[in-house]
Amino acid sequence: MFPLNTRGAQASESPLTTVVAAGSAALPTLLKLAAVMEKGGQDLRSVEQLPVEIALGPEFVFRPIFACPVSRDMSTPDNPPLALPCGHVLAEQSVAKLLKNRSRAFKCPYCPMECRQESLRPVTFPGID
Ligand SMILES: [Zn+2]
Repeated sequence: MFPLNTRGAQASESPLTTVVAAGSAALPTLLKLAAVMEKGGQDLRSVEQLPVEIALGPEFVFRPIFACPVSRDMSTPDNPPLALPCGHVLAEQSVAKLLKNRSRAFKCPYCPMECRQESLRPVTFPGID
């Protein structure tokens, strides 16, 4: 019924299925909240942000992933994403292959910009261990 999130990464179901499942999980709490707010003369539909956080469970906790556009590998602590000065992001191992046989500089595979090894920046995604 609910999307399985066994790998702790992406939703294994479609985004629509995930949203419907999350709404179904949150509905009992939302109905209670609406009833409490109605007694206080407020309308849940008129608030921009819920006054309480509704925990949906670990199956709805996702973290961003990065797949290198060159190698198609997912980033790992051993192969982290690196931002080039042009803003394109590649996995470290792909950068290493581009740097091979070159003296600390290479051309971005996606735009004409020349990239130097010292101008690479690590990319961190919030929520990744
Ligand atoms: Zn680029």
